[in-house]
Amino acid sequence: MDVIQISDRIKRMAASQTLAMSQKSSELRASGVDVINLSVGEPDFNTPLHIKEAAKKAIDDNYTHYPPVPGYMDLRQAVAAKLSRENGLSYEAAQVVISGGAKQSLSNVLMAVINPGDEVVIPVPAWVSYVEMVKLAGGVNVLVPAGIEQDFKITPQQLDDAITPHTRLVMLCSPSNPSGSVYSRRELQGLVDVLAKHPHVMVLSDEIYEHINYIGGVTSMGSFPEIADRVILVNGVSKAYAMTGWRVGFMAGPVEVAKAVTKLQGQTTSGISTIAQRAALAAYEGSQQCVEDMRLAFERRRDLVVGLAREIPGLKVNRPDGAFYLFPEVSAYLGKRFGDKVIADDNDLCMYLLEQAHVATVSGSAFCLPGYIRLSYAASDDSLVEAFKRIAQALSRLS
Ligand code: PMP
Ligand code: GLU
Repeated sequence: MDVIQISDRIKRMAASQTLAMSQKSSELRASGVDVINLSVGEPDFNTPLHIKEAAKKAIDDNYTHYPPVPGYMDLRQAVAAKLSRENGLSYEAAQVVISGGAKQSLSNVLMAVINPGDEVVIPVPAWVSYVEMVKLAGGVNVLVPAGIEQDFKITPQQLDDAITPHTRLVMLCSPSNPSGSVYSRRELQGLVDVLAKHPHVMVLSDEIYEHINYIGGVTSMGSFPEIADRVILVNGVSKAYAMTGWRVGFMAGPVEVAKAVTKLQGQTTSGISTIAQRAALAAYEGSQQCVEDMRLAFERRRDLVVGLAREIPGLKVNRPDGAFYLFPEVSAYLGKRFGDKVIADDNDLCMYLLEQAHVATVSGSAFCLPGYIRLSYAASDDSLVEAFKRIAQALSRLS
């Protein structure tokens, strides 16, 4: 027997493919290859100045001691104020817990509410980490597919069919990573009507891309009175304020869940970096102009990449209403050959694009929907134009 044991729970877990592809592209770049990295999804902008200044001041003001486990009270109040101001929702600071990014908020909530064997309904494509987090919590993933023909959105009937007496939670993400699709209020109402019939089911709504939308605003799942008392919202500063490296996110929901998450955090992390919390406070309380400026840039790029992708024969492309991803259907290229190599699936296609076009993307399989690839357009216009030129050339070489 080996001395070093790795637990079964970690062995059963797949590595994050978004992060793995990004790492791979950094390694290639370090070895001198001119790779365009459209794999990882993060704003290419730097954090706005006033937020960085707040962090510097926090150090000078000696925000250097342990924080309260659920986050500074003024930050939790600022989150409650944001939910009221931007989403028309009524939350107390006691219902809010600050964690290490929306990622940790999601994972904390799942650990806090899922028992082994509980079913968690997840529309797919879904962000890579959901199913692994559910597994870690001992839950059972129930995947509900929604391809490009239904604009990557599940129907009320599909949701109803997926719910059983063992369902504990439905995870939703709108605007969606990886498809960029956004549920309209009417579409969400259809899902809410189903959920209203199943009072044993909670909802975990990942709203991290709420500000990056091109339709004049999105609806929060917290805004449906029929189910509001069993909705848990997750959001954070990473995407809206270009603060991915600061690692600040939050959950807002029933006070029992907030308390359970605080208990978990008290035993595992002692809360979030004090300096990052002060920066997040500045983000929520300061001018929101930076959010709009970045949104406008993403909207312009959305139009650019949809146009570029639609020029490539065989790709099926939707027009995403939010986030900063394009999720084209690529099955026309599967089964084709490059020399003696067969491109059998979307994973092979991503590897081919990385090796031959030097463009890093992520396979649809990583998001539990094979036959697609994801491209992040949070990159400069020049690199997007160059990336699509290379992709078009590489795809045209397949026969
Ligand atoms: N949810 C979704 C859908 C995401 O794309 C991301 C970004 N990786 C996160 C949550 C986590 O964001 P963060 O932890 O940086 O707040
Ligand atoms: N949201 C990003 C992505 O999906 C960040 C990487 C990650 O944490 O998965 O690419």
